[in-house]
Amino acid sequence: MYDYADYNEKILGNISIIAVSSYHKHNDDVFDRFYNRFTMVFHTSPQDLEKQIKGADLLYRIAYGEIYGHGDDVKYAFKTVKTAIHCVFSMAAPHGDVYAGVSEVIAKKYGKTLYVPHMISIHKHNPGGDYRKFFRIPESATVFGRYGGRHTLDINILKKAITEVVEERNDYYFIFVNTDRFVTHERVIYIDNITDVETKNRFINTCDAMVHGRIMGESFGLAIGEFSVNNKPIITYSGPMRDNNHLTILKDNGIYFSTLKECKTVLLSFDKELYKKSYDSLLMEVRRADRLGLELIVMHPGAHVGSGEQAGLKRIAKAIRKLVDATPEMGVKILVETTAGQGSNVGYRFEHLAQIISDVGAPERIGVCFDTCHTFAAGYDIKDPAGYRRTMEEFDRIIGLDKLMAFHLNDAKSDLGSHVDRHEHIGKGKLGTAVFREIMRDKRFALTPKLLETPKGESKGKPWDVINLQTLRRLASR
Ligand SMILES: [Zn+2]
Repeated sequence: MYDYADYNEKILGNISIIAVSSYHKHNDDVFDRFYNRFTMVFHTSPQDLEKQIKGADLLYRIAYGEIYGHGDDVKYAFKTVKTAIHCVFSMAAPHGDVYAGVSEVIAKKYGKTLYVPHMISIHKHNPGGDYRKFFRIPESATVFGRYGGRHTLDINILKKAITEVVEERNDYYFIFVNTDRFVTHERVIYIDNITDVETKNRFINTCDAMVHGRIMGESFGLAIGEFSVNNKPIITYSGPMRDNNHLTILKDNGIYFSTLKECKTVLLSFDKELYKKSYDSLLMEVRRADRLGLELIVMHPGAHVGSGEQAGLKRIAKAIRKLVDATPEMGVKILVETTAGQGSNVGYRFEHLAQIISDVGAPERIGVCFDTCHTFAAGYDIKDPAGYRRTMEEFDRIIGLDKLMAFHLNDAKSDLGSHVDRHEHIGKGKLGTAVFREIMRDKRFALTPKLLETPKGESKGKPWDVINLQTLRRLASR
């Protein structure tokens, strides 16, 4: 409501007056920020309100529908003031001059077409900062949190899973804002309702993920939206419920459970670094590249850390897709790099990269960076001209050479198929010079950017970068 009143003044240039039922007058902490900003009027009945706001251009009202009975709702269709009714739960009692749902899900359910999603503006104002120090939570700990209605964390399997998981994992913390106490533990923190945007932002920043589970579901899902726009993953129930607008919006960006076992697995296998790295830093990089007028950025596909290669590839594609969707006006291409397959890294087979590209489904925004050391360590024998040719044929067959948009040039300290990622100066490692001669003289790649990724330092007062570039130039010319 605050945002509607605020933007009505700031964007539309109108004056906002906040009307509150006298019944709620005692809720001082909730209204503080309204008091400080707007004129408030309290009314004892709809008729009383109509009298008090006589001369106003519009009454905007959020209607809760059947939750509190439509009886009162319909009385807010005034004769002397135009009314715009925004329905949160139900659209079963049309009244007023404009009658809109809060989501498509709600509108459809009542055979209506008009809906206006709530605005989620919290992200824009997020200046960073969190409450980890305040609560003495280590940086390395994983924090799950939620806010919303006091009684609306009511999926029992979620509560049970949290109760069990917090005992098992001493690096896990749960912070519940405005939530009925259901477990008592030193790493489960309960705090009062948060009403101001600053505190809300800091709270979201404190959390690595939101836990959500509401029997009724969400006809909109404001808290989920607020966590989401801050790139926090949402762990939520996907079993049967009344309204599932949040699932419609989250789609495959949610982490879902429908049984106690699934819920515990989701919580126990949650890897906060995965979500942080795969998304936040990349988004920043794409924006930075766009501002600098750069055409390409290169990323390592990343690791599946025990979740299996397929799951890893799917998650990477999902993160890139989200990135592409978040930057539609930007032409920056995201290149996934061939990897050595060290640890649980994916991307060491051309098939992996082909799958990521096809799963992302935005061919104009994605390509591949061919890293010579990694590809060799991954098991592609590019050492001699014949092997190079075969490998490029394979690349073309599986990914397509038009997708090869950059090279990382580096020799390898480690052997063919060793899956060990250690770079060496050009011609000084297990690869030797032949492959670099092939690449430098391959007409198909004459215009493809090639970047040195060799160790830094000097040799006899000469920077290695200069030496390596001279080697490449020499190989290119003969
Ligand atoms: Zn590289």
